[in-house]
Amino acid sequence: MVNYKDLGLVNTREMFAKAVEGGYAIPAFNFNNMEQLQAIIKAAATTKSPVILQVSKGARNYANATLLRYMAQGAVEYAKELGWENPQIVLHLDHGDTFEVCKSCIESGFSSVMIDGSHLPYEENIELTKKVVEYAHQFDVTVEGELGVLAGVEDEVSSDHHTYTNPEEVIDFATRTGCDSLAISIGTSHGAYKFTPEQCTIDPATGRMVPPPLAFDVLKAVEEKLPGFPIVLHGSSSVPQEEVETINKFGGALKAAIGIPEEWLREAAKSAVCKINIDSDSRLAMTAAVRQVFAEKPAEFDPRKYLGPARDNMEKLYRHKIENVLGSAGKA
Ligand SMILES: [Zn+2]
Repeated sequence: MVNYKDLGLVNTREMFAKAVEGGYAIPAFNFNNMEQLQAIIKAAATTKSPVILQVSKGARNYANATLLRYMAQGAVEYAKELGWENPQIVLHLDHGDTFEVCKSCIESGFSSVMIDGSHLPYEENIELTKKVVEYAHQFDVTVEGELGVLAGVEDEVSSDHHTYTNPEEVIDFATRTGCDSLAISIGTSHGAYKFTPEQCTIDPATGRMVPPPLAFDVLKAVEEKLPGFPIVLHGSSSVPQEEVETINKFGGALKAAIGIPEEWLREAAKSAVCKINIDSDSRLAMTAAVRQVFAEKPAEFDPRKYLGPARDNMEKLYRHKIENVLGSAGKA
């Protein structure tokens, strides 16, 4: 058993309480390799933003569970080297789907886990979430549950349509499971293809596609039922069009990739939404930079010469999210 506290990590309890109170959100960035991790830590350390390092089951298999634990520990030490004296870094399991995977993560140094029983019937979701909470809380590990289903595809998680969270269920769910935060569905979705062009309208000023509005009424109703309770938004990449254009310009083929406008996320961050998950944007930033180097310098074969620019581009993106969208800069 590796306790996250020995790795220098923290759980989400205190940072979420401060974020709800302060009207900002903590970035939860997915990672599965060294360059992503370096970029996340550098952006968080230089802006003094609390940060959640998020790992899906697929990423854990990709990177190797043991290696990941040491990477997270290394991330804490790296943050200190960068001058962040008291780093507020969480290692979180994204979309845990069984008690066993949550338990395994807790035993290998995670400070927070998500148990996603949203695909199960309501009572079974409660039962599974409660079981994980009871285990996790023995080690002061925090737990995120989910109510409602998000559309889209992300690693092993996929659904072809969304079901908004039913605000009538949230008090019962939070009370009976004892979860520390709750992911809700208000129209965000996983992946880089969140909406079809047919679902969107065209903004006459920019000519860009605007997706259907998020269900802020659902968020508001949830907040009224559970005042001050930490709420999580998944699938909140904005799919920056300049990255999509770079990818396509240099040989990519991303068609009509559409994300969540940043103004909407800015608005959500001011509410009880205290954790915003961003994965696709970092994938896009990385791919755009790599493609550009490959296209412009076809003779290059030193991985540092294309992964280095990819890392710089991701760091720029993370910093932008922290400073201009989530409002978490200077909060740690
Ligand atoms: Zn998700």
